[in-house]
Amino acid sequence: MSSESILFSEVAEHFEKLEKTQSRLEMIDILEELFNDTPPNSIDKLCYLLLGEIDADFKHIKLGLGEKLVQKGVAKAFSLSNEEVEKLFRETGDLGEAAEVASEKGSKGLKAFTKGERKGLSLKEVHSSFLKIANAEGSGSQDKKLNILAGLLSNSTNKGCRYITRIALSKLRLGVGDMTILDALAETYTGSKDNRPQIEHIYNISSDVGLVAKKVAEDGVSGLDDVGVEIGRPIRMMLAQRLKKLSEIKEKMGGDEFAAEEKYDGERMQIHKDGENVRVFSRRLEEITKQYPDVVEYIKDNVDIDEAIMEGEAVAVQDGELQSFQKLMRRKRKYDIEEFVDKIPVKLFLFDLLYVEGESYLKKSYPKRREKLEQIVDETDNLKFSRRIVTDNLDKIDEFFEESINRGNEGILAKSCDEDSVYRAGAREWLWIKWKKDYTSKLSDTLDLTVVGALAGKGRRSGTYGALLCAAYNHEKDVFETLCKVGTGFTDEDLELLPKKLEEFEIDHKPARVVSEIEPTQWFQPNLVVEVEGAELTKSPVHTAGLDRIEEDKGLAIRFPRYLNLREDKSPDESTTVSELMEMYENQEKI
Ligand code: ATP
Repeated sequence: MSSESILFSEVAEHFEKLEKTQSRLEMIDILEELFNDTPPNSIDKLCYLLLGEIDADFKHIKLGLGEKLVQKGVAKAFSLSNEEVEKLFRETGDLGEAAEVASEKGSKGLKAFTKGERKGLSLKEVHSSFLKIANAEGSGSQDKKLNILAGLLSNSTNKGCRYITRIALSKLRLGVGDMTILDALAETYTGSKDNRPQIEHIYNISSDVGLVAKKVAEDGVSGLDDVGVEIGRPIRMMLAQRLKKLSEIKEKMGGDEFAAEEKYDGERMQIHKDGENVRVFSRRLEEITKQYPDVVEYIKDNVDIDEAIMEGEAVAVQDGELQSFQKLMRRKRKYDIEEFVDKIPVKLFLFDLLYVEGESYLKKSYPKRREKLEQIVDETDNLKFSRRIVTDNLDKIDEFFEESINRGNEGILAKSCDEDSVYRAGAREWLWIKWKKDYTSKLSDTLDLTVVGALAGKGRRSGTYGALLCAAYNHEKDVFETLCKVGTGFTDEDLELLPKKLEEFEIDHKPARVVSEIEPTQWFQPNLVVEVEGAELTKSPVHTAGLDRIEEDKGLAIRFPRYLNLREDKSPDESTTVSELMEMYENQEKI
């Protein structure tokens, strides 16, 4: 491995292999080979590009290249007319492939543009050009972006053009996920995938796969010790397990006392305060500060210290009554935000504290975090701490649950008060347990599933979907295992919208990280998450979720699955996991 940057042509060869493989194990091997050929100082850039990005996901760096501009870039790079590129695009159906063909065809004209032979672009050059494209702003920026892109394409190999174009369009989609990269990093730099949990822990704290990759490539697992909590870098959020019977809380949680907090039906947010600079991140770690100027004000006015990272739930209110999540979502808009801030005011209920004045609070117990939170924040009418009781008495919890529901909430969250009740970034464990009012059917909760395929519709539905093939996420194996075909619950609007949303994720073979016995009409790279309800979980000879875990050759399936809505606030690896399904199945069997 040299310290020189790897050539992008070599990267592109590996991208092609990744795109073609139908096996996740092979995917890890390809990545390992690629990592071994990449000098550690470029590994961060490689990881971002593998995910089709330029930097950590939460930075949301936008290239600002529309389809038309990319098309122009291809034309310019290879001295073709826009019409010629348009035609290639129509013929191939993919601008990446069109660019590759244009590159093959246009080598004559190319010399006129570059005034020289094509030289091999390095990975670093490609990455830094994309950064320049992203940073070009203001007047003349479109031309600048166009020229940089054309320069990149004209200096690239034919295959390189395919991938540069797809990155430019934010449509790379190699099917590689963050966990796939973490596994490959563990294999390459620590010799075993068994070390992924250590790497994953730091990833959960930093949310930056490139940073983690670079540290582990340069200094092995010990390099990860340098990565801590930083303001402005969101922490992957701690999640709750679910239980059907309140009486089991004690057994699951251990310890004498625990807290029961109201479970608000709003939007979870992680708030980073750095002096007067307040930033708000969503559950998916997207920056949503602009949507919540009121929350920013509440924090600026009522938090007594300079640096803090807090979590809470913003809930829409009307005439003093808490409103539903759907109501709050009407605020999600690009324009007229101020108007909707007035129309849909929110209250913020703070429930956790992760960092204070240079000190991480992640390893402190929940009672300590809450105590400090209450010290640094002054409550107002709109800025509250989550309502809660601390007790060891289940009857009191039951009463509190009723009260919480009557106040318009979804249920309660029980939280461990033990010494070791730390904040477990990105984990869904028994330190937090949710209990919701809709836990009445045999299936104790709705499920958030990733769409991996579609089956064509018949009769009235012909031309749209008959059913969606949906999968749960197996976090340990980093694959998506099918759980059901959902064919009911769709409105006409859903049937119109879903194909538009899914179109861009379609691929012509089974994605490498999907485990399925069913062959749908269309396959999709795991991206879109939908919420599904059902009657119960049953054993299934055709679905692969939790295969062999309950009975040999059987997976789990949902009986009578019904589509509810999109969960665009969740990424595919935040779908319901196979371990959760196992828990739910066992709980269900006890009833
Ligand atoms: P759900 O769809 O049930 O909200 P989820 O998968 O989005 O589940 P979970 O971690 O399973 O998230 O459930 C906890 C969620 O409940 C948090 O993400 C948060 O949005 C919300 N919530 C509401 N009130 C609280 C609270 N007091 N403490 C923690 N989380 C709360």
